[in-house]
Amino acid sequence: MIYDHILVRYGEITLKTRNRKMFINALRQNMKRALTGFSIELAAQWDRAYITLNGEDPEAVMDAIENVNGILSVSPVAKLEKSEEAMKETAVHFAEEFTKGETFKIEVRRADKSYHLKTFDIQYMLGGYVLENVPDLKVDVKHPDHQIMVEVRTDGIYMYHEVRQCIGGLPIGTGGRALLMLSGGIDSPVAGLEVMKKGIEIEAIHFHSPPYTSPQATEKVKQLVDIMSKRTGADIKLHIVPFTELQTKIYDWIPDNMSMTTTRRIMLIIAERLAERIDGKAIVNGENLGQVASQTLTSMHAINAVTNFPVLRPLLTLEKNEIVEMARRYGTYETSVLPYEDCCTIFKPKSPKTRPLVEKVEKFESKVDFEPMIEKALEGIECYSVNETEEKEAFSSLL
Ligand code: ATP
Ligand code: MG
Repeated sequence: MIYDHILVRYGEITLKTRNRKMFINALRQNMKRALTGFSIELAAQWDRAYITLNGEDPEAVMDAIENVNGILSVSPVAKLEKSEEAMKETAVHFAEEFTKGETFKIEVRRADKSYHLKTFDIQYMLGGYVLENVPDLKVDVKHPDHQIMVEVRTDGIYMYHEVRQCIGGLPIGTGGRALLMLSGGIDSPVAGLEVMKKGIEIEAIHFHSPPYTSPQATEKVKQLVDIMSKRTGADIKLHIVPFTELQTKIYDWIPDNMSMTTTRRIMLIIAERLAERIDGKAIVNGENLGQVASQTLTSMHAINAVTNFPVLRPLLTLEKNEIVEMARRYGTYETSVLPYEDCCTIFKPKSPKTRPLVEKVEKFESKVDFEPMIEKALEGIECYSVNETEEKEAFSSLL
């Protein structure tokens, strides 16, 4: 079958009435980004969008957009001239792919009210023609195994029968911006992708401590950002914070069993200041209740005490195996398990306190002036984004 269009159905956008235009515009932008490199045309309408393939492979185009937030499902579509013969031939073509004994239904949308055949005429004509020409199929109008969809529009007849389910949710960028604390482990990329599902745009912050952390560890975080950007069609910016000076200061001055708490507190202070600068409205992390010493309720309380910013923890109560399953589905797992140490693993205390009290931590921290080092770390931030790399590569190929 020669498919020449892709039909895109919207997810939660269809629940919006007043500001739907804004949601559709955001989705159009994100789809366009995910389809960079394809010579397609995209028309986003009030209740659905159409992609004109211009000869591009329909499967490849659907692969590229199936994880764009806001899309409920997609179908490859054949656009036909407005003739009975063309419709009949296509219906049989579709039905030949069905298995013997299966049931089908012809579903008609007659947008062009002036077309000479009425809805029932088309259903009757095509249903009968398929039954005559494809053996061992039955019609079932209530619970069919397959639906053959026929849309009569002014510019032609659109027919399709396959439906590929997509991710749904809301288009990224419609829910404000948040800063994701991205560690390179399994959890934080999943946490980021979860909030993105609700339309939230993400920038990421990563703390590294060279030479204690290897360049490969930082590369791995960049790779995770690439995977997340590619998957969602969103351009995620990564802020890499030089953390060595602070980390060694903590190591030297804070008792071993409290150092993890202080490390997390300072990371959160820096994250908050960056979030404010980028007009972020929340910080997101991959914390999971009870998973490690720094993630008990008392620990979270002591760490959280440095900020009034909302800290979103989308994985808070999940089981580890559920998170692993999500990471596999999102395609981040293989990269997350690469064996490069991150800064917390290296400076990990032997027996971190599971119940650090705020007053105690504050007492030890008051002996050190962290503030100038915090400001220096913020000044030393390096930025990375997939698009910048692609732009740089494209630019250098012109030279
Ligand atoms: P992950 O798999 O995300 O690393 P984890 O179970 O290893 O999670 P921790 O290492 O205790 O958990 O970290 C908890 C959260 O703190 C992480 O999910 C992440 O959001 C944040 N975090 C930890 N280390 C870093 C880092 N080097 N840079 C940025 N964020 C970090
Ligand atoms: Mg970690």
